[in-house]
Amino acid sequence: MNLKNFINGKWVEAESGLTREIINPANGEVIAIACESDASDACLAIKAAREAFDSGVWSNLPAIERAAFLFKIADKLEERMDELKVLETLDNGKPHREAEFDIGDAANCFRYYAGLVSKPHGYTYDVPDGAQAMTVREPIGVCGLITPWNYPLLMGVWKIAPALAAGNTIVYKPSEITPVTSVKLFEIIEEVGIPKGVANLVLGPGNTAGQEIAESHDVDKVSFTGGTVTGRKIMQAAAGNIKKISLELGGKSPNIVFADADLETAVDYALFGIFANSGQVCTAGSRLLLEESIHDHFIERLVERARMIRVGAGDNPATEMGPLVSEAHMNKVLNYIEIGKQEGATLVCGGKRITEAGLEKGYFVEPTIFVDTTPNMRIVQEEIFGPVLVVQKFKDEQEAIKLANNTVYGLGAGVFSNDGAKALRVIKKIRAGITWINTYHPTYNEAPWGGYKQSGIGRGLGTYGFEEFTEVKQININLQVEPVGWFEN
Ligand code: NDP
Repeated sequence: MNLKNFINGKWVEAESGLTREIINPANGEVIAIACESDASDACLAIKAAREAFDSGVWSNLPAIERAAFLFKIADKLEERMDELKVLETLDNGKPHREAEFDIGDAANCFRYYAGLVSKPHGYTYDVPDGAQAMTVREPIGVCGLITPWNYPLLMGVWKIAPALAAGNTIVYKPSEITPVTSVKLFEIIEEVGIPKGVANLVLGPGNTAGQEIAESHDVDKVSFTGGTVTGRKIMQAAAGNIKKISLELGGKSPNIVFADADLETAVDYALFGIFANSGQVCTAGSRLLLEESIHDHFIERLVERARMIRVGAGDNPATEMGPLVSEAHMNKVLNYIEIGKQEGATLVCGGKRITEAGLEKGYFVEPTIFVDTTPNMRIVQEEIFGPVLVVQKFKDEQEAIKLANNTVYGLGAGVFSNDGAKALRVIKKIRAGITWINTYHPTYNEAPWGGYKQSGIGRGLGTYGFEEFTEVKQININLQVEPVGWFEN
């Protein structure tokens, strides 16, 4: 498989001719060769998007016609489900059932935003001076979209669908290590006939191609999902032309379980919260906060169940947890496990790379659980982004809230309790943008997604996600057309 850029309606190699091998994380084998773009390729894509936006070929289309394109993309994603799920697993490692879920969700994301295209969303205002003011929403212009590798197709679609729905043109740069399904999506974009230059794809590294997108004065908005360190660089790069920015960044999300919760349900969601997608989820419930009185019993049950998780290659139907995305990322996660041990936390489950026959060439790490942690440990404060759960103990509601808020992040949070008032009271005190009561992780195209504190700026998904790709224009109409009379002569 040869993966190329899609710029101005054409499939093209990187100008430098450089390429990179794309690796299957389940066995280390090469599955594709992707072009390795740099700033010059990003410039070509930005130029195409600029010209397409300025021509009005997309933004001037009647809303209903723009929506029709998006509906068609959704249908084609579903038609190609079997192919796409296999490719997503090959590229990222996730089990087929997770890939299938992502692709279905991506199709529905296009449908959701197709539905929003034609909805009115301005206000009118009664203002003084015999005038009438109103607002209209307009596209921002050229949008640079930059995404990570944990949900290769879905993270792109969360941005591409609302950006196009709102009438923008786009330059999309997926993670350089998981570009396969993005290329397939752009084949679909080509097939449905979206005008050339409206949607452009650049495959390449963040520090060259990505940096150019973030810096270019011809890009009006950058929507970025990735780590907090990179998010900071994007903010700095965007300062040159005061770009609009949306940042969806990292997290160290608390999942709080009170003694009065339904414990089997809480155990189940604690596992799902940290081990789904091998823990490579921005909102992973990576800190489990347990009320003291249930701690030991809860851990016993949690460890018993964590040990039963079937880790393996994503194309094996029995697999429940796949490998980590790359060797470098696996080593980062294993290093954090070492740090946890050195810091004095107690390892009660997992902790090692899996090297059994059949998995030894892949990047598999055991579901891992640490107890006896203290709030300032690095494994408690820093995002590990792997199957590593750290457990914290609390005495009462106040301590739970204090511990929950004690990181620089504020992305997700969960509370399990059968006392509805207490659960809501606690959730309202947590500084986080996505919160759950008696559940963990459900994500909907209809509902907003984003973080407080260093977990980001702005919101994706829902109507908020659409508005992030629009400018608000105030139109003031003078209803008494006569001179203002401010100057006497
Ligand atoms: P990174 O921040 O390393 O990379 C994200 C994207 O940014 C990649 O496409 C990367 O390119 C690109 N990039 C890197 N440097 C620059 C730069 N200087 N300018 C422009 N673009 C750049 O994150 P990871 O890919 O490692 O993904 C993991 C992170 O993503 C985690 O911290 C996780 O929490 C976060 N995340 C947040 C989500 C949310 O909704 N809040 C959802 C999913 C993930 P390259 O191809 O070189 O890697």
